[in-house]
Amino acid sequence: MRSESNEMMSEEMCVVSGDPSNLRTAGTKISGNPIRRESIAERSSCDIDPAALTARPDPKKIPAQLRKEFPRFQDETRRHRKILIRLKEDSQFARSTVQLSFALLCIWIGIEFAFFVKWGMSGGTAPFVGRPPGVEGFLPISALISLKYWLHTGVVNSVHPSGLFILVAIVVVSLLLKKAFCSWLCPIGTLSESLWLLGQRLFGRNLKINRWIDYPLRSLKYFLLLFFVYSIWQMDVAALKTFIDSPYNKMADVKMYMFFADITTFALWTIIILALLSVVVKNFWCRYLCPYGALLGAVSWLSPLKITRDVTTCIDCELCTKACPSGVKVHAERRVWSDECMACLSCVEACPVKECLSMKSGSSARATPRWVFATLIVGVFVAITGMAMLAGKWHNGISNEEYLRRFQNINTPLYQHSGGEVPAYGPND
Ligand code: SF4
Ligand code: SF4
Ligand code: SF4
Repeated sequence: MRSESNEMMSEEMCVVSGDPSNLRTAGTKISGNPIRRESIAERSSCDIDPAALTARPDPKKIPAQLRKEFPRFQDETRRHRKILIRLKEDSQFARSTVQLSFALLCIWIGIEFAFFVKWGMSGGTAPFVGRPPGVEGFLPISALISLKYWLHTGVVNSVHPSGLFILVAIVVVSLLLKKAFCSWLCPIGTLSESLWLLGQRLFGRNLKINRWIDYPLRSLKYFLLLFFVYSIWQMDVAALKTFIDSPYNKMADVKMYMFFADITTFALWTIIILALLSVVVKNFWCRYLCPYGALLGAVSWLSPLKITRDVTTCIDCELCTKACPSGVKVHAERRVWSDECMACLSCVEACPVKECLSMKSGSSARATPRWVFATLIVGVFVAITGMAMLAGKWHNGISNEEYLRRFQNINTPLYQHSGGEVPAYGPND
């Protein structure tokens, strides 16, 4: 007598060898998959190779009417049309393009800001380069404080206004489109992905952390998030304003730049160790330590769009789970609710069955086309930050004269941060 699991595998082998045109959907209720129903009905006529009982179904042998057709970019001779078709049909090509563009934008912002700091530190003698407001995207704590202040008072502060709108744009993207910011836009996420891809190339695979260690480690980022949220929660409007207007906050971007430009040995080694861990373990920083990612993961729970699996056509090949960089067992879910899902669409791209796996708002809803999803991510982000620019709320209200004065005192205690408190300051500071 064959075991139950062997019978299951027999069914799958029948799928591989059966005639797709004869698929029947009525019959046994053992499985929701019509292909399996067919195989079970015809099991007695299947010639089963015992060695194949342990093999997975070959996606290439999926019945024609269920087989996903992958776009043939090679057929297109005109380069620009080839790129357009790939952007539309290949989500991973579109994602890499968006990631690269956003990373280049951040590098550009970094270079501009470096010249601005050079000008400030020279006392205004070096060539002047304006401060790029986008640098405030790297001040998440200040942005969270600005957000609470805005929600309480309705006032957009004039110290780091673009930081506030970048945070709002990122949260709205997560609210609507899962944690797509992480896998499509975040430059640290792009770096992290490059590092684990390098690890895969060097060692053939990445280290899989045992789930008993993985779960507690994943909660670390939530503890960090709780710490920051609790600290900000306790601040009343007066305390928020004191922080926002403090000399420390006004020069927080410059202090951050100086931290990396004149990095301590300890900080450098910490970054090197994190980078090495990210080569070995997929998204080490993002998965275990980033409080920003924790916030977006929590918000993404509310997102109407989720990766959704059609269990009636799924052939349980597990290619989706294998492709998932976040370790989500996609093949076992109807809807992916996991806070680790970054909406990268790698699983959708890997699935060999037509319309079996897609990003949609419900099991019976229409799938969101890849290009629409990609356009929405970029569109929502650009729309919110663009509106802030059009409304004149993008540039801060600190004049170049004030910056020059502050640059001269940047190493005084007024600009040091200790124990979560900003130093006391007077009206003329
Ligand atoms: S987890 Fe943090 S660092 Fe990683 S991609 Fe998301 S926001 Fe960026
Ligand atoms: S479940 Fe799919 S979309 Fe979500 S992280 Fe995994 S591969 Fe990406
Ligand atoms: S959803 Fe996953 S397991 Fe099912 S057919 Fe697609 S890749 Fe295979």
